[in-house]
Formats: sequence, C-alpha cells, structure tokens
Amino acid sequence: MPEPMFQKVALVGLGLIGSSLCHVIRREGLSGHISGHARSQATRDKALEIGLVDSVHETAAEAVADADLVIVCVPVGVCGDVAAEIGPALKPGAIVTDVGSVKGHVIAAMTPHMPPGVHFICGHPIAGTEESGPEAGFASLFENRWCILTPTPDADAAACDRLEAFWKACGSSVERMDPQHHDLVLAITSHVPHLIAYNIVGTAADMEEVTRSEVIKYSAAGFRDFTRIAASDPVMWRDVFLTNRDGVLEMLGRFSEDLTALQRMIRNGDGEALQALFTRTRSIRRGIIDAGQDEAVPDFGRRGDIKPQE
Ligand code: NAP
Repeated sequence: MPEPMFQKVALVGLGLIGSSLCHVIRREGLSGHISGHARSQATRDKALEIGLVDSVHETAAEAVADADLVIVCVPVGVCGDVAAEIGPALKPGAIVTDVGSVKGHVIAAMTPHMPPGVHFICGHPIAGTEESGPEAGFASLFENRWCILTPTPDADAAACDRLEAFWKACGSSVERMDPQHHDLVLAITSHVPHLIAYNIVGTAADMEEVTRSEVIKYSAAGFRDFTRIAASDPVMWRDVFLTNRDGVLEMLGRFSEDLTALQRMIRNGDGEALQALFTRTRSIRRGIIDAGQDEAVPDFGRRGDIKPQE
C-alpha cells in the first residue's frame, strides 16, 4: 500500500458533501485516519455506524486535533463559528479548507480565527444533489466535476498544490479563481437558477385555480426539474442567499431585464426573436454535454441511476 496523502483528515460536518468526502478518501486511501464531527448526536452515531469515519467527536475542536487536513463541510452561515471553535486546536502546518458554495463571505468569516502557521485555502466542489445528511453521500460525487480553489494572494504555494492534488485524487478537475469572481460566476450558474426554482414551485403551489394535486399529477418535465432543484436543503440555500447577496442581486438584475425583454417578445408576437433566443440556448446545452458536465440521455423523471449535479 502506498503512503496515504495525509496522516489524518478531519471533517467538520458529515452531510452530503462531508460523507461523500469520507467515502472517496477511504476508497482512494488518501488518509491514515478519518475523524469527524457533526452538530447532532444522531448524525455522529450514524457516521460511526455506517463507517464514514474512524473516530467521531462531540466537539469540532476534538475532531481537528492533530489533523493535517481539515475540511469544513457545514452551511456557509456557520463557517465563522466553526472556525472560532477549531482555531486554537489546529496543528501548526495543517491545511484548513471548506466546501461552501459562497467564497467571499467564508474567507472573511474564517480568516480571523486561523492561527499563524496554518494554511487556510478555501474551495468549492461544483458537485451535489438535492439530498442531504450522512447517508446521502457517495464516493463518485466529485468525479469529472470541477473543484474551484480560491487561495488568497498570501497562500502558501506548496499547500495549494497539496490541496489541488487531494481534489484531483477525489476525481475532480481543479481551477483556481479569485473569490469575488467565483461568487459572481456561481450566482448565475447555480444560485439564481435555484432561486428561480424556489419561486416557480412556490407560485405553482400558491395558485388558487390549480390545486396542489393537479400540480403534482400533471407536472410536465420542465416543472418536475424545478421541483427537484427546489427540494434542495433549505438551510444551505438560505445561507447562500444571505451571504452572496451582492452577486445574486447583480445577476438577478440582469435576469429581470432579460425576462422583461422576453415578455415584450411574447406580447409583440415576435416569433423570430423567441426562436433566435431558444436556438442560442439550445447550443449552450449542447456545449455543456460536449464538455462532459451532463449526459445527453433523455431523463423522463423515472431514472434513478443518474445523480443530478449542483
Ligand atoms: P448537509 O447535508 O445539510 O450537511 C451539513 C452538515 O453540517 C451536517 O452534518 C450538520 O450536522 C453539520 N452542521 C451544521 N451546522 C453545524 C455546526 N454549527 N457545527 C457542526 N456541524 C454543523 O449539507 P451539505 O449539502 O453537505 O452542504 C455542506 C456545505 O457544502 C455547504 O456549505 C454547502 O454550501 C456546500 N455545498 C453543497 C452542495 C450541495 O449540492 N449540497 C454542493 C457543493 C457545496 P447535523 O447533521 O448534526 O445537523
């Protein structure tokens, strides 16, 4: 057996992302020991029971002691609290990273608690499903997905390379990006689409003349896809919108302008403009498939073998 990449990896948060990391770390033999912490006793017990971790700890500080890689996998709104708790317990030379969907806020909230000699480099795997909790994870979640690292200019180059090698060993392709740019890009590719899904499903549910049962019974492919996205974890997404306010509002402004233009095309019966837009968007879908970010297989809502991505 080759030497593991790390002697001890600690995961704070054992939900979808934390448990998926446990699975892939184990499968690839990336750590000699996996320690974990989650807020509730129920999750901690489940993590031990299903073998996610080698040791589980009542506090995050206990979990990170002696770890050479610490991965914070909690909702972005509590990353600062977790950092305050683990800061004094971190081993000098340890790499501390996160997986949060927003980067500017997490860096601002966690940095003040990182002691000197610890390498703090944030990251975001662009991979996920609408499921959550310790039993939702699976080892292949990160395969052929991007992981974006957002090191600050003073980040240690060797530590960045080590973290990049870790994500590559998990099956991801790695890109480095400025945190603010990350938040703007993700606002349009992930955050605003989720907001639209939450809104359209909420509107449909509120409609007086269409009963809820009809919404469910006659749900067509487009609406069904929205309901899947709108089933994503409420706490995680609440935190995303509260912490990437600027990025989301900027992209929402542009989205609203384009929606108004679409409204005008429909009102004016401008079929040519509608068709031109739909032709352009169809080619974007094809580009995503060509880039290997999704499959071209038709999904009629009955297939259980393809896990959706964030
Ligand atoms: P999740 O399945 O809901 O799991 C969250 C975990 O964090 C749970 O184990 C929870 O413990 C724990 N936790 C919450 N507050 C805590 C606290 N104060 N102290 C310690 N542990 C705490 O969430 P997830 O989907 O894995 O998301 C985790 C992070 O990954 C989020 O920042 C999210 O933005 C990011 N992310 C998510 C996706 C996605 O598609 N889901 C994709 C990429 C990145 P309990 O179980 O005990 O409540």
